[in-house]
Amino acid sequence: MNIFSGHVRGSEAPPMIDPFGRMVSYLRVSVTDRCDFRCTYCMAEHMTFLPKKDLLTLEELERLCSAFIDKGVRKIRLTGGEPLVRHNIMHLVRALGRKVADGGLEELTLTTNGSQLSRYAAELVDNGVRRINVSVDTLDPQKFRDITRIGDLSKVLAGIEAAQKAGIHVKLNAVALKGFNDREIADIMRWAHGRGMDMTVIETMPMGEIDEDRTDQYLPLSELRASLEEQFTLTENNHRTGGPARYVTVEETGGRLGFITPLTHNFCESCNRVRLTCTGTLYMCLGQNDAADFRELLRSTDDDAVLKRAIDEAISRKPKGHDFIIDREHNRPAVARHMSMTGG
Ligand code: SAM
Ligand code: SF4
Repeated sequence: MNIFSGHVRGSEAPPMIDPFGRMVSYLRVSVTDRCDFRCTYCMAEHMTFLPKKDLLTLEELERLCSAFIDKGVRKIRLTGGEPLVRHNIMHLVRALGRKVADGGLEELTLTTNGSQLSRYAAELVDNGVRRINVSVDTLDPQKFRDITRIGDLSKVLAGIEAAQKAGIHVKLNAVALKGFNDREIADIMRWAHGRGMDMTVIETMPMGEIDEDRTDQYLPLSELRASLEEQFTLTENNHRTGGPARYVTVEETGGRLGFITPLTHNFCESCNRVRLTCTGTLYMCLGQNDAADFRELLRSTDDDAVLKRAIDEAISRKPKGHDFIIDREHNRPAVARHMSMTGG
């Protein structure tokens, strides 16, 4: 038997329950704020990235993730920035892969722009990664270059192919952008479903200063769904990945399409996650500013019991939900940090 299949030890600790009765079992870890792309909706063209001393080391990240696993976290997603551009990231993947192998962790996944996947796909599989999300907003090479400001679509497509060949389930993520890819989503979906990938479309969220006007980019997914329904039969689907996406089956392709609609539908009531930044700040909600700092704690004590008490204290402050709004009057980021800090 593959050491990574089906062997779940189950957490020894009682589950972490927040003040609203939600079980927190999912940790998203942004391992770097850096990226080899500069997507226009995510980053400004000229970003100032954090100095290295501010980042948690990979060993600190590993120690903190282990404390969360001991507290009942069952699933970890590595994200960023671009997780695969962090120097020596496979050190952390290997450490967390061992947790998957011994059943401490149910799932290790990542969200990536795919640019480095050709290089890492085999190693990811060897370390227990079975599913990844790859972000692709267009299949037109020139438009891809425009939206990412730097990216090379052919490398990303080669990366997806390498991941699939290695046996990883790939889900495609696309941010729906008015006037950019709204007319292309149907084609991207056909392409993804034709290659055995589910797809999720995401509404733009007002996070961090960018160089463009977010009201110009914002496309409510209710509009996108209505236009897809002119061409396709969308059947409600109970598929849940523990995330905020609501899925439909597209009868014509046989594939699944997910909608993440933070603005038109609030998905907070079933939120099971918290987010750790690469500097060791834990955000209990993507759309709120309250946070808990773990960096100083990690550097001031070797006692993991102290970390675990701080985790409990943070979870006891998890808020009910976010307050995202995008309209002309609210044309400021709801939170000042960029998505690349908390990783989406
Ligand atoms: N670099 C990786 C990637 O692009 O997949 C991981 C980090 S990225 C911040 C995670 C996801 O957030 C991507 O799917 C990206 O498209 C999405 N994203 C970034 N900024 C966003 C925003 N302002 N609103 C909605 N989604 C956003
Ligand atoms: Fe980088 Fe991902 Fe943000 Fe694009 S969305 S700039 S790939 S972090």
